[in-house]
Amino acid sequence: MIQHHPGEELLLTLAAGRLESGPSVLIDAHVETCESCRVQWRHLQAIGGALIDEAEPALLKTDALSRTLARIDALAEACNPNENVQGAATTPHAVLPNGARLPRSLRGSTISRWHWMGPGMRWSRIELSHEPQASLFLLRIAPGRSLPIHSHSGVEFTQVLCGSFDDGRAVFGPGDFDAADSGVHHQPIVCKGSDCVCLAYVSAPLKFDSKLAAFIGQRIGL
Ligand SMILES: [Zn+2]
Repeated sequence: MIQHHPGEELLLTLAAGRLESGPSVLIDAHVETCESCRVQWRHLQAIGGALIDEAEPALLKTDALSRTLARIDALAEACNPNENVQGAATTPHAVLPNGARLPRSLRGSTISRWHWMGPGMRWSRIELSHEPQASLFLLRIAPGRSLPIHSHSGVEFTQVLCGSFDDGRAVFGPGDFDAADSGVHHQPIVCKGSDCVCLAYVSAPLKFDSKLAAFIGQRIGL
C-alpha cells in the first residue's frame, strides 16, 4: 500500500513539461506504480493540454522535442507490464534483489554496477541519455544500516523500489515517494527484513554532518 506521494504541485509541474529530466524520472517512476497518482496525472495532463491550447506561442529549449519523445516512449512502455527494463539497460549494471525491477523511465539510461559506499551500503550511478549530468543514483542498503545523517542544500527526491526505511519522519516502503529539502535533517535507517533499494535524485550536494561521510559523498557526487 503506497502511503507517500509527490505533491500535486510537482505533478502539475511535470504535466506542464516544466520539470527537468532528473526529477521527472523519479515522478514518472512513482506514477508507474501508483494508481491514484496515475489518475491525477492524466487529469492534470488534460488541464495542461487545455492551457497550452490557449497559451501564447513561446520558444522551446532546443532539446524539447527529444525530451518529449523520450517521455512518450516511457509512458507507452508503462502500459506494457511484460517489458523488462532491467534487461534493456546497458550492462554491466546494478542487479536488483529478486522481485524488484527498474522503473521504465530509466529505459535507455546507462546504469553502473554497484559500488561500495560503506558496510552494507552500495550505490550505482545513472546517466540519462538526454541529460547525463543529472544527479541520479540507485542506493542499496542492507537491513539495519543507515545513510549518514544529513540535510540538503537543494531538493532530494527518493522513490522506493523495494524494502523500506524509516527516517524518523515516517516509514517509506515499496512505491513510496519522498521529497526532502533544506528544512529536513534526517538519517534514513533501513527496516528489518530485506535490502532497501531506492532511486534518488539530488539537485545539489547533500550536507553530511560527519566529515568522513562528506568526503565519501563528494567522491560519489551525492
Ligand atoms: Zn502516488
